[in-house]
Amino acid sequence: MNHTIRAHHGRPFEIGGDMTELDAVPAILCGDTTDRIFVGGTWRTGGGDVIESVDPATGRVFATLHAATPADVDVAVQAGLRAVHEGGWAARMPHERAAVLHRIGDLVDANAERIAILQTTDTGKTLSETRALARSAAGTFRYMAAAAETMEDAVTPSRGPYLTLATHEPMGVVGAITPWNSPIASDAQKIAPALAAGNAVVAKPPVWAPWVTLLLARLCEEAGLPAGLLSVLPGPGRTVGDALVRHPDVAKISFTGGTTTGRALAHAAADKIMPITLELGGKSPTIVFDDADVEQALAGVLYGIFSSSGQSCIAGSRVFVQRDVYGAFVEELVSRARSLRVGPGTDPRTQVAPMVARAHRDGVAAMVEDARAAGATVLCGGRIPEGEQFEAGAYYEPTILAGVDNSADICQQEVFGPVAVVLPFDDEDDLVAQANHSVFGLACGIWTSDYRRAWRIAKAVRAGTVWINTYKQFSISTPFSGLEESGLGTEKGRDGIRSYMNQKSIYVDLAGDPLPWAGGDATQEGQP
Ligand code: NAD
Repeated sequence: MNHTIRAHHGRPFEIGGDMTELDAVPAILCGDTTDRIFVGGTWRTGGGDVIESVDPATGRVFATLHAATPADVDVAVQAGLRAVHEGGWAARMPHERAAVLHRIGDLVDANAERIAILQTTDTGKTLSETRALARSAAGTFRYMAAAAETMEDAVTPSRGPYLTLATHEPMGVVGAITPWNSPIASDAQKIAPALAAGNAVVAKPPVWAPWVTLLLARLCEEAGLPAGLLSVLPGPGRTVGDALVRHPDVAKISFTGGTTTGRALAHAAADKIMPITLELGGKSPTIVFDDADVEQALAGVLYGIFSSSGQSCIAGSRVFVQRDVYGAFVEELVSRARSLRVGPGTDPRTQVAPMVARAHRDGVAAMVEDARAAGATVLCGGRIPEGEQFEAGAYYEPTILAGVDNSADICQQEVFGPVAVVLPFDDEDDLVAQANHSVFGLACGIWTSDYRRAWRIAKAVRAGTVWINTYKQFSISTPFSGLEESGLGTEKGRDGIRSYMNQKSIYVDLAGDPLPWAGGDATQEGQP
């Protein structure tokens, strides 16, 4: 398949045409300066180890990149501080910052195809998905621009002869640490509100998918974002990420990733008494009642777990089916899962694309083997697809397991792959007890035609997001958060921008009354 796209300097390139992927991807990114990271407004070769970027559809190395080092973190943070304070970003009027964000959103839109191809090459995801992610990232920049411009501080009810104001200010330099599964969307979700709020951002993309964040930095630069406000430092979490979290001048960390990493970061944040937002893992229940619209439920359950090859924090990986329809529903679900089309993300017919890397695929396969050894029945999948076209990539068949109860490891641990477990339930009480028996609380899907029942279950299941007769639909204007080990704090929504600001209260005297030691009223309210 050929994709003609315009490179950074306007020259058209074709992937699969006269250029190899190896030539094309860095060229798509930034013309002739490919092995560069973005440190404090300067593009330069990183001082860290070489990252080899592998296309998970083919197993080919398509680009190499020198990672950042902890020393780069300090340079980036200092540049960020200068850009915020001396450079005046923090003091700029919200509508002025919004204008830059609108331009970034427009450029992301204009370069959506380039971003999508780059992300599909780096992560394996289908082009239809990466196109949607690019469009949503553009929307995120515009939404946060609008939010910044229209946010209001409050004049609070006075308790004395003074004017009381609740105002908000930028924090300074924010660290954004992201996973590999949906780079452009998770980047935008952090970078847009943090910049809109008047901060600088040091982004630490993952080793498995660093390129799209670097391309986003190019677009931010082109949009006129002042130098130093965004740095992009790809590299290992244990060195570059750790240095970012522990840096004394980093005022906040916004993290998306696994729960184990998130817990370690929360400890580091506690040492600094630093706010941290954590968007972590999940093991989300998808619930099918006996009165559900069967066609919709089948399509929703399949999409909920197998889109993105299950590499989604909100994947509906525990499928609870009411016992009286369990047999028939599961039989049809398995039959449809078997006919899902597995293939490269560049093929428009593909539904289940490769996983991000062979190492990750092998980890998922090992979890399925452990479940099998613990007594699970593999109803479909549970193996690498057969065929020459799958040999070099990171493919895995859509897999459905049964025959274990909800306390089994495979029901309690996040797999982050195309693996669902089907579980029967008897009634609402049984269902709610099973669904809530999990350390996670990220998402939940409910399929029923009884809206009162849907409401009861939506209220009873512990989850940050509940979908009723739909699944995996998102809107930047609706807050997103996880409960318990799925996270801490909220992203998205109008107030998402506030989590990148410090709140400051201001009292302005209006009457000139003496304070208590100067003969005033000593019974006045409010000594802390
Ligand atoms: P991960 O936790 O291994 O890595 C996430 C990021 O943290 C990477 O950039 C990594 O380099 C960095 N990191 C790792 N150790 C670090 C350390 N000690 N200090 C600082 N940074 C460190 O997760 P992953 O495998 O990249 O992503 C998959 C996980 O992300 C899954 O658990 C998934 O559920 C979760 N996720 C959650 C959401 C959400 O919104 N809740 C969204 C997407 C993915």
